Amino acid sequence: MIDFAARLAELDALGLRRRRRVLDSAQGAHVRVDGKDYLSFASNDYLGLAAHPAIAEAACAALRDFGTGTGAAHLLTGHHILHHQAEQALAAFVGQPAALLFSTGYMANLGVVTALLDRHGAIFADKLNHASLVDAAQLSRAAHQRYRHNDLEHLEQLLRASDAEHKLIATDAVFSMDGDLAPVPELLALAEKYDAWLYVDDAHGFGVLGHDGRGVLEHFALPHSPRLIYLATLGKAAGVAGAFVAGTKDLAEWLVNKARTYIFTTAQPPALAAAVSASLGLIAGEPERRERLATLIARLKAGVATLPWPLMASETPIQPLLIGDNHATLRLSDGLRERGILLPAIRPPTVPEGSARLRISLSANHTEADIDRLLMALRELA
Ligand SMILES: *Cc1c(COP(=O)(O)O)cnc(C)c1O
Repeated sequence: MIDFAARLAELDALGLRRRRRVLDSAQGAHVRVDGKDYLSFASNDYLGLAAHPAIAEAACAALRDFGTGTGAAHLLTGHHILHHQAEQALAAFVGQPAALLFSTGYMANLGVVTALLDRHGAIFADKLNHASLVDAAQLSRAAHQRYRHNDLEHLEQLLRASDAEHKLIATDAVFSMDGDLAPVPELLALAEKYDAWLYVDDAHGFGVLGHDGRGVLEHFALPHSPRLIYLATLGKAAGVAGAFVAGTKDLAEWLVNKARTYIFTTAQPPALAAAVSASLGLIAGEPERRERLATLIARLKAGVATLPWPLMASETPIQPLLIGDNHATLRLSDGLRERGILLPAIRPPTVPEGSARLRISLSANHTEADIDRLLMALRELA
């Protein structure tokens, strides 16, 4: 048996112990955590929609009409008209023929990869991909070929050398701990050249990238391609929960039949699908939320220039401040917390050794004064 106490003490000593805090307000730029008020840069609620009253109202109306539970999987009697409508709206929104809702992004990644690849296949994955894609690759038993971050030459070498029956290139669109973008058009060209699928996980781009917030495909103006499989999660910028996969109608049908994380789980409450549909209206209808993010990003960058730590190269609301040492990063995070600011220390194994960072996550609900307050606190701690 594991000696839990001793092993947890080891984690403490390494500065790697993780602890939960209890939120007792709505999610947002200003939160109440463990009974204290904070300015928060610690959520993925980029558009400030997680507690938007119109979305909550859409969910409430659906709860009143249809109750809480679906009581069954989608393939039994759990597939509700509100799921169906949300899928149609999501497919149209991202310019794909079909979309399929999953309960979480984690489950979607496991389900899609294992439905496409078995031990005769190969997955070509960026080294900085999200943990759920790493787990998906392992579960599929396909050859797991990891290429250096955004390194197209390395990827091409691996593709050229592969004789796998089916090939899948998998990448985060926006890297979750770095904030930079994958070169999606070039990846698609390699997928064409080597007869592979390209699977793009747009968890942090959906709602944020593109004039209308349609995500990374809008950002790069990529037309529909049967090779391209698009995933976005709905618990980040969309402010709800769940995820969807979009692509051809045949892909969606295949996943309905083969994706185990779709088949063997209870369908999400229809109220969440109603909330997703309401959120789509706000994402497209209020581009000012994205404009505000751009203003805040510029202000942060200008202010950080006088600090001893660099921001990593990112144009997205994920603006990591690179510190390096685990303990130093924790000390800074603690110092900010004492000053009423929540900004999490991100440490290995989430990021590579020696690259611990403060992951500043901006929201359209932040004000310029909020950014200035963060900068002032960092200056004090420097
Ligand atoms: C958050 C995230 C996921 C998981 O999505 P959930 O809906 O939270 O399970 C998958 N991929 C990436 C890149 C993510 O950032």
